[in-house]
Amino acid sequence: NTGLMRGKRGIILGVANNRSIAYGIAKSCRDQGAELALTWQGDALKKRVEPLAKELGAITLGHCDVTDGASIDAVFEEAKKQWGKIDFVVHAIAFADKDELDGRYLDTTEANFSRSMLISCYSLTAITQRAEKLMTEGGSILTLSYYGAEKWMPHYNVMGVAKAALEASVRYLAADLGEKNIRVNAISAGPIKTLAASGIGDFRYILKWNEYNAPLRRTVTQEEVGDSAMYLLSDLARGVTGEVHHVDSGYNVVGMKRPDAPDI
Ligand code: NAD
Repeated sequence: NTGLMRGKRGIILGVANNRSIAYGIAKSCRDQGAELALTWQGDALKKRVEPLAKELGAITLGHCDVTDGASIDAVFEEAKKQWGKIDFVVHAIAFADKDELDGRYLDTTEANFSRSMLISCYSLTAITQRAEKLMTEGGSILTLSYYGAEKWMPHYNVMGVAKAALEASVRYLAADLGEKNIRVNAISAGPIKTLAASGIGDFRYILKWNEYNAPLRRTVTQEEVGDSAMYLLSDLARGVTGEVHHVDSGYNVVGMKRPDAPDI
């Protein structure tokens, strides 16, 4: 612990349980001295998030469902009441109908397309609108993406399209907020077994493929994503904005299957 986040206060959205990437990020930030605030989506997650908040010494800001703007307002109002200003926000939220995270992208329905884009892409902008008002001394906003934004991936489908739009949003938000010294970045994380990932078809195959073919010859951990996120949220990254930073054991540089990789 070298206190890289000492004196910083941030809201972390997207903790569902202790496997969530958001939880890994929360831990890395807490370990470097940050003060944290967590939210939950619905009552079912409240009872999971509350003990994790306690363990992290975090405050809680209540229910936040990004499809309900009033609940986003309420969370940021509560943060303002408790803290006055904030220094960072983590957006680790995505959703697509499980039935369409399988098979062809071509079969995406309009309803699922709109809902996936709203929850997985627009919500970053909705949250950033509220965060801007509380980041009176600059700040850092971070979201989570995946390589399926850049290249076709089996079963990722509408989520790949939503992540591509999310990465573009990072660039536009970064340009809008740079003059306020508010930075906006994304981490493109390699596959990690979480609740959200369990909805993706053949996820175990994807994990194995990455393990065999990534330069580091393994997948990444929640802790590794957490530490890289902490860097982007800290002043170490004060010159970095609009960036999509890959934390994926180097998988994104690989052009083809390694000849000596085992069959899966
Ligand atoms: P997770 O299931 O632990 O977290 C997903 C979170 O999204 C949950 O906390 C859930 O409550 C929240 N969420 C969904 N719909 C919401 C809504 N309407 N309002 C508010 N919150 C909502 O899974 P995770 O893998 O930790 O996912 C976090 C982020 O990381 C997502 O953006 C995901 O796409 C991204 N990501 C995951 C992987 C992976 O392999 N797990 C890889 C790259 C990127």
